[in-house]
Amino acid sequence: MNQPTIHPQGALQILVVGAGISGLAAAYGLRKSGHDVLVVEKTDGSQNYTNEAIPSPPNMTQMLAKLGLESHCQSFFERTDKCDFIDANSGSYIGVLPAELLRAIAKDAMADSGTIEGKKLQGLLRRMCEESGVNLRFSVTVAGITEDMPTSVILEDGEKLEADLIVVADGCNSSLRSHVVPRERLEIGVKTAILTASISMERLREDLELWPLLRSDTWVMWIGSGVQCRLHVLPRQKERCEALFSYTVPSNTSQTCDEWKIIEDASVYGLDVSALEPRLQKLLEAGDYCHFRVIETLPAADTLVSIPKKIILIGSAAHSLAPGTHQDTPMALEDAYTLSFLLSKLQKRDQLPRIISAYDEIRQPRAAHVHQYEVRRQMISKAPPGPLRSTRDERLRMISQIEQGAAAEEAILAIWGTELVVGTYNASAAAQDWWNQYGSCVVINDEGSKSATGEVQVFVKRKSESW
Ligand SMILES: Cc1cc2nc3c(=O)[nH]c(=O)nc-3n(C[C@H](O)[C@H](O)[C@H](O)COP(=O)(O)OP(=O)(O)OC[C@H]3O[C@@H](n4cnc5c(N)ncnc54)[C@H](O)[C@@H]3O)c2cc1C
Repeated sequence: MNQPTIHPQGALQILVVGAGISGLAAAYGLRKSGHDVLVVEKTDGSQNYTNEAIPSPPNMTQMLAKLGLESHCQSFFERTDKCDFIDANSGSYIGVLPAELLRAIAKDAMADSGTIEGKKLQGLLRRMCEESGVNLRFSVTVAGITEDMPTSVILEDGEKLEADLIVVADGCNSSLRSHVVPRERLEIGVKTAILTASISMERLREDLELWPLLRSDTWVMWIGSGVQCRLHVLPRQKERCEALFSYTVPSNTSQTCDEWKIIEDASVYGLDVSALEPRLQKLLEAGDYCHFRVIETLPAADTLVSIPKKIILIGSAAHSLAPGTHQDTPMALEDAYTLSFLLSKLQKRDQLPRIISAYDEIRQPRAAHVHQYEVRRQMISKAPPGPLRSTRDERLRMISQIEQGAAAEEAILAIWGTELVVGTYNASAAAQDWWNQYGSCVVINDEGSKSATGEVQVFVKRKSESW
């Protein structure tokens, strides 16, 4: 994807809605593929939320490399060596995801697990967009997408913007997703609150209980009844750490919050602070500020595109995974990469419907699989006392005690198998494989022997195959 491969006749005018990580990554990739890209963003672009330490599993680290960002991220990426699990209610130590396992995964996937600073990644993407010629417009809100042709969006002030393709990257709680996935119902009981406490390391230096946990190469996960908390030291700078609490919002809580905002008292939003072990209470108290938001997890979408309307969903707008899940940002980068890869192949504008369909074929099954995995993982992490929680803890303890060797590998696979499949997915290989198999159906020239109907049948058949 380093050279613009696109044929001049295939160059499109692409409108990206949202300048979060997914929108900016897609805009940058699409521009590098040779398209004209306009990004519209409703905020004024001054980054006003926390530093937000984001886990970068191998599938994300790989995407950073594929998008050509790896060397630029070095100053705010740090490799993770292990993950400790602690009971969020009693404070007892449960187990560890050992360094050997994380290294073995990294070796297989040819990419490290690590932590990256989200705010800096977003800043880098913005700079790369500006330097590569992406047109960015801030303080511009898209109010809707028109139903008529050509494809266009209506802005809040009534202005109409036309485009050959609209990439919807307006985040979780997306208002534009309904143009692609109509009539959705919320999954029952899946309102999740995310609260990030940003804490100066200096404040914790004297704390003999917390200080030993604050290592930049370690994730600490507290898992408890209806709540989990992940503690990260921000990579490289080591001046601040973040405790990201994620908890199920009790159904009797009337308060809601669908934008990030700074809050003082989490108990108003249903977090039972007194049920947390003392170190977690201390972390909350030590926070200089807390960012908060409630996310409604939607069911996995049956499709991520509208071919007639020429709309594509990417990032949290496509997957609706709560921030704080491990795969939110990785999936955003996978989407951006896949879209840029496919659109770098376009030779003529009339091939666009087939490219849109190809994106859906590659990304929808992956998104559905990750969605199912994350929902289950959240359920297990936040399990109340009972058989599910006992089995979870027993397995985590087992892993910590396993000696190295073949038996260890087998046991680890039995316990972390799904995690490994999800976190080592290679989106670039998936896109390339798809192209090797079906690319000739997309770029077949007008004199080609296959009819358009024949090609569509190929896509439909593949879509029904399992992931
Ligand atoms: C505190 C915090 C902690 C996080 N922790 C993690 C984590 O641990 N792991 C992880 O993977 N991710 C995490 N994230 C999420 C991550 O930063 C991104 O949200 C995620 O990568 C998905 O990005 P996105 O671009 O799809 O959506 P967003 O980042 O939500 O971006 C959407 C953009 O679209 C804009 N927009 C919305 N509607 C409109 C409209 N109508 N017109 C124009 N613009 C519009 C919004 O202003 C926003 O800038 C966290 C985020 C925060 C804030």
